[in-house]
Amino acid sequence: MNFDDINIPAKLVPDNYLQLGLSAQRAKQRSFKELLEKRKLPLNGWPDEQIEELVHHLASLDSNNFPHKLGLGEREARIACRLVARRHYNFGHGIGRSGDLLEAQPKAAGSTLLARLTNALILDFMKTVGQLPSCAGCFLVPICTGMTLSLCLQSLRKQRPRARYVLWSRIDQKSCFKAITTAGLEPVIIPCQVVQGESLHTDIESFREKIEALGSESILCLYTTTSCFAPRNSDNIVEVAKLSKQWQIPHLVNNAYGLQAPDISRQLERSHRVGRIDYFVQSSDKNLLVPVGGAIVASFEENVLHNVASTYAGRASGSQALDVFMTLLSLGSSGFQSLIKQRSYNFIYLKEKLQKFAESRNEIVIDSRDNSISLAITLSTLDKAGQNSDISRLGAMLQTRGVSGARVITSGQNKTIDGYEFQGFGSHRNDLKVSYLTVAAAMGTTIEEIDKFFGVLDKCWQQLSQKRNREP
Ligand SMILES: *Cc1c(COP(=O)(O)O)cnc(C)c1O
Repeated sequence: MNFDDINIPAKLVPDNYLQLGLSAQRAKQRSFKELLEKRKLPLNGWPDEQIEELVHHLASLDSNNFPHKLGLGEREARIACRLVARRHYNFGHGIGRSGDLLEAQPKAAGSTLLARLTNALILDFMKTVGQLPSCAGCFLVPICTGMTLSLCLQSLRKQRPRARYVLWSRIDQKSCFKAITTAGLEPVIIPCQVVQGESLHTDIESFREKIEALGSESILCLYTTTSCFAPRNSDNIVEVAKLSKQWQIPHLVNNAYGLQAPDISRQLERSHRVGRIDYFVQSSDKNLLVPVGGAIVASFEENVLHNVASTYAGRASGSQALDVFMTLLSLGSSGFQSLIKQRSYNFIYLKEKLQKFAESRNEIVIDSRDNSISLAITLSTLDKAGQNSDISRLGAMLQTRGVSGARVITSGQNKTIDGYEFQGFGSHRNDLKVSYLTVAAAMGTTIEEIDKFFGVLDKCWQQLSQKRNREP
């Protein structure tokens, strides 16, 4: 409510008192006005009360919240449980219109405004905080990263109905692969190149050979991944982008948590300059610190985004937009900038500590220099005559002591996903020789967590090596 428009009699409150209150309100009104008019991320985060006030205002524009509403349709945002209504700030209509995520929802001006404003703020985030000034457009999809990648593939399929192969640089993350099979397409797995012993790089030659062998017409797209577990490196998206441009085959990039790593953004920008990227997809939870359930599709060309938005079958949940909206306003660009700065610092800190730890135990931190988020330390001295069981115990021991996210990778783990067999699953390669442990310095990790982790790792390591030494 705007008191400025109301003539409040001095009988109710003395005018000078009122003016004090009103001028405080005006600053807030100005920030609402600026947000809606400029659609840019505020520099500094807003207080919770201010965010809630705006959200309540927006919700009041939806038909289910009209005082005079008479709903005679089958879908009228009827929410049975008050707790659920409160959890969603009385938003219930979702976003988009059946079959198009970006269309306005006639029953819900507030939800529509919220969704579009959120997309505009995410775009500003991508350009400034994410350091992707050439990003031309993006939108939030209320489904996970894997399904969103699948949605992109399905929309490409409409453009290239005769193409059925997806050339995919191997990464052992199930959802990356399932994105292809879920879209009903045929994956062509391009194994990584093993360089200097252990680190993994994109095999560009193999991409080129496959394109020549299959013919560009039959290939739906080239599919790469940036952020990933070490010792796999971020794919060489620049060279793949060049192939994509040269052969006129679309290029899809899985940038799951790449927005927090400025060097990945630089590679994306460069790929766009010298080659072609059609879509790049990032997880909303990993980059924006909201609950799991959303992803952002972005492109260097705005008009192709609509193809993806209109591939979505149905009206979509608005929850993810609300979470992202509130979070962006709460942190502001300065909040996110400092998280990103801290993360870069933490990565160096983690890397140095891990190198020291490795040195003192005759292990190495694998040199995967095109990975600035995740690190891998070898477990060769713990690996007794190639028996993996002890090493696998390390993972469980760490977990029992509260460490989550650290992964122990051993050889010989075969896995079949949707009929495709992967040897050495987890290691991104068929012939892993030395077991290793991966840890990541992702956005939100704290120095204290890193320090405590080394305390725990040291204890577990001692236990395991003592046990190893006792046994014959
Ligand atoms: C997290 C992640 C995914 C999957 O994310 P979902 O949202 O669970 O689908 C895919 N690829 C990579 C590289 C990831 O890190």
